[in-house]
Amino acid sequence: GSDLHGILDFWNGAAPDAEALAEGDRRLTWSGLADRVSRLAAALAADGLRPGHHFATLNKNSSATIEATFAAARDGYAHVIVNWRLSPGEIEYVLADAKTRILFVGAEFLPQLEQVRDRLPHLTKVIVVGGDADEYESYLASAAPVPRSHRPQPDDCVLLLYTSGTTGFPKGAMLTHRSLGAHCVSAAEAFDFSHDSVNMVAMPLFHVGGISWALISLWVGARTVLVRDVVPATVLERIRQERVTHAFFVPTVYEYFLATPELDQADLSSLRCLGYGGSPMPLPLMRRCLERFTSDFYQVYGMTEASGVFSVLGPDAHRDPDRIHLLTSAGRPVAGVQVRVASPLTGEEVPSGQTGEFWIKSEQVMAGYWDKPEATAESFSDGWFRTGDAGFVDDDGFLFVRDRVKDMIISGGENIYPAEVERVINQHPSVADVCVIGVPDPTYVETVKAVVTVTSGAVVDAAELIAFCRERLAAYKCPKSVEIVQELPRTATGKVLKRELRKAYSKSTD
Ligand code: AMP
Repeated sequence: GSDLHGILDFWNGAAPDAEALAEGDRRLTWSGLADRVSRLAAALAADGLRPGHHFATLNKNSSATIEATFAAARDGYAHVIVNWRLSPGEIEYVLADAKTRILFVGAEFLPQLEQVRDRLPHLTKVIVVGGDADEYESYLASAAPVPRSHRPQPDDCVLLLYTSGTTGFPKGAMLTHRSLGAHCVSAAEAFDFSHDSVNMVAMPLFHVGGISWALISLWVGARTVLVRDVVPATVLERIRQERVTHAFFVPTVYEYFLATPELDQADLSSLRCLGYGGSPMPLPLMRRCLERFTSDFYQVYGMTEASGVFSVLGPDAHRDPDRIHLLTSAGRPVAGVQVRVASPLTGEEVPSGQTGEFWIKSEQVMAGYWDKPEATAESFSDGWFRTGDAGFVDDDGFLFVRDRVKDMIISGGENIYPAEVERVINQHPSVADVCVIGVPDPTYVETVKAVVTVTSGAVVDAAELIAFCRERLAAYKCPKSVEIVQELPRTATGKVLKRELRKAYSKSTD
């Protein structure tokens, strides 16, 4: 059914003593997990949380984040999983926008929280996870499990995942029982998950590539292995120890694996499915991966608003010399997803083989952006969700992502919206105007570059502008290079010609 908490009820009934979650040396069985979730739910209710309320997690990957997601699904709360790479100001924005009442914070992120806590009027309670005190454990221990009172509706929001936007501020995508459940069903089939799979979750849980990937193995009753820090040699060793069968990494992490001396000795014989995606995979890197790993590869094309993956390039397309051109394709839509290639201007469907914007229709699509009716309305057209990605579909139904209609940079698997960086740089008193673009980079695929004009008479250098960004933005969003120019190229109507700037700087990787 469309009740995410039903996963726990089902597996707790069917296989209470089987292992559900592994986190370092810690193991949780299904009955152990179910018990902890019902205690957590009881404690949240005792703290005044009611259906429709929001609480949040700011932490590296931890079983507590999974438990909180199930507690949200159980009692009708929405769980905001905050990107811990954000600056304190950005964290404040997300927590305030979501009207977060209770926050679970990893001990190591307390300093960031302390800087903004006074400015969060809705936040009534902070519970530290891990560290010396480990308030989270006492929070669970103090609560007596209570039966479930709330019957969730399929369209109740379970997860609120923030993605940045073209408006310069992040927006919370509301993922529901229905959307997340539909994703679990189609993804389990696409990646050939079964209950004896062992799934490694190494990507951060604040991304769909983390939390939705984890939900697939939980859904099918498989074992889920959480990785807190992606240290390549350690990850390779965990794959051997846990006999991992399924894992997903962004292209940059594969680059790290290939540069790890331990890869030569690693025992990766248990691996059956290696997923990659979240951004375009450079072809040379894909070829090196195919040489070094014997596992099957699956390319994943997905996005937050689709609750995760919606198109997959399966293993047969990867090692077939006759279909090598498919390596630049993002595969075919998973079950239950319709894709339409539309003209971004008129919305008309373009003929097969021609480039347009990908629109999708599926139960997997989010309910909308939290508290942003206009942004929600803009992103839908006649029931289709507009992905902001551009490309074409070939005669066999393979999707080729070739460009973006939305202005977005993907660096090391992290999405960066230039509008957000431009908004910050524009606040610098010496800056007259700025345009932020992505430039090619061998390791990160793209890196952020700012092209700036300064106000007359002002003196400012690249280092100062980068430092200015560092104080206000997550490190990965800050420009790696700044170019100070006399003027920005513009159209007759005054719009900056980003395409021209991208072309001008696409050869330089400085
Ligand atoms: P996010 O919501 O952070 O998961 O980002 C989703 C966006 O990442 C998509 O709209 C695409 O622009 C990009 N993306 C994800 N997977 C792929 C892929 N396999 N190939 C190309 N772009 C991708």
